[in-house]
Amino acid sequence: MAKTFDVVIIGAGAAGLMCAATAGYRGRRVLVIDHAPRPGRKILMSGGGRCNFTNLNSTPANFLSDNPHFCISALKRYTPQDFLELVDRHGIEHEEKAAGQLFCRDSARSILDMLLTECEWAGSEIRLKTSVESVNLSANTYRVKTSGGEVECSSLVVATGGLSIPTMGATGFGYNLARQFGLDVRPTRAGLVPFTLTPELKQQLSPLAGISCPVEVSCNGEHFREPMLVTHRGLSGPAMLQISSFWQPGDPVAIDLLPGQQALEALNQLKQEHPTLTLERYLARTLPRRFARAFAELQGWDRPLQGYRKADLEAAAHTLSAWTLTPAGTEGYRTAEVTLGGVDTRQLSSKTMAANDVPGLFFIGEVVDVTGHLGGHNFQWAWASGVAAGNIA
Ligand SMILES: Cc1cc2nc3c(=O)[nH]c(=O)nc-3n(C[C@H](O)[C@H](O)[C@H](O)COP(=O)(O)OP(=O)(O)OC[C@H]3O[C@@H](n4cnc5c(N)ncnc54)[C@H](O)[C@@H]3O)c2cc1C
Repeated sequence: MAKTFDVVIIGAGAAGLMCAATAGYRGRRVLVIDHAPRPGRKILMSGGGRCNFTNLNSTPANFLSDNPHFCISALKRYTPQDFLELVDRHGIEHEEKAAGQLFCRDSARSILDMLLTECEWAGSEIRLKTSVESVNLSANTYRVKTSGGEVECSSLVVATGGLSIPTMGATGFGYNLARQFGLDVRPTRAGLVPFTLTPELKQQLSPLAGISCPVEVSCNGEHFREPMLVTHRGLSGPAMLQISSFWQPGDPVAIDLLPGQQALEALNQLKQEHPTLTLERYLARTLPRRFARAFAELQGWDRPLQGYRKADLEAAAHTLSAWTLTPAGTEGYRTAEVTLGGVDTRQLSSKTMAANDVPGLFFIGEVVDVTGHLGGHNFQWAWASGVAAGNIA
């Protein structure tokens, strides 16, 4: 005999747990199913183990989607302040790192524990190590065949996340289920992911590996002023992760190593005032010394400024303000923080996350074609979309 629930949620991640607590508090009988041995594993590894759980400055402009207005309603109804109140009620200490980015002071574990406690208080059941074998809908009832037996429900919430970090249990299950019920899936690709470089470029940049410096990076009309990190594999750090979500194979990225400065003006003035200064010494005023040395070497900038003609100075200024590289690719889903694309939002209600044409079917969190910038926005979407569905499912 199939056991009956009001709501079955597939995926015990950020969005699924938030939805489970919300629906459970409404008195709904809720079951959460996850094939992983533990819930919320991405929460635990997020924000370097301290979970950047929201961003106080989050607005719809911080999200990418083929249908950019879709996220507005849910984000408005459940705000960063709402989540912060929940965090405070549980006495979780937190701190603001960069502007608006809230992190746990101790460990991401406290956010996961908070969600599990909320689910327990709300009476929602969680079954782990349980995989879904099939889903069928008839007479407004979903029959979900799992490795642990069959369950029935009137509301089925898909919260299986995206494809990033397959070793953490990521699958394309949610996309396949969407297709099974006639919904479209926007093409997916890795986002918030480090760039890889051609072997030649990697070798050239190897002296810079391990160095982080503040830059402004741009690509396809988008730009971010954040730190960049050169690694042994390529380019990473917040600046590169952010711009990777806007990058397509073959696109060049331009890196301003002196953001906020007029490089040519500065170099002309410097040449007049300090003609014996080298560009390396100049760069070391704003960039890490090791980076300045290696970058000047890479560019062959070994003479004092007095040896530079007008055209040389112009070329150097251009290199400093728009150092242009074409990445070979990205590290892909293996290390990506998010998956761009996903279930097409045109077929979902922006208020409830319910499929317009399939009764009782909901999609929440990263499986949906809504992807945040780096900095706590992705969790804010998971919370907000989870609450939107939990209030109605
Ligand atoms: C390394 C890393 C760091 C990050 N740091 C941050 C951060 O600090 N701030 C931020 O805002 N965002 C961060 N993110 C992004 C954030 O983790 C995700 O956007 C968020 O977890 C998405 O929530 P979700 O519930 O939709 O999916 P997930 O949290 O991925 O949960 C999906 C769940 O579904 C389960 N599942 C998948 N397929 C199946 C299946 N077939 N059957 C049953 N269960 C299934 C999975 O096991 C998983 O438990 C980070 C991501 C990574 C990878």
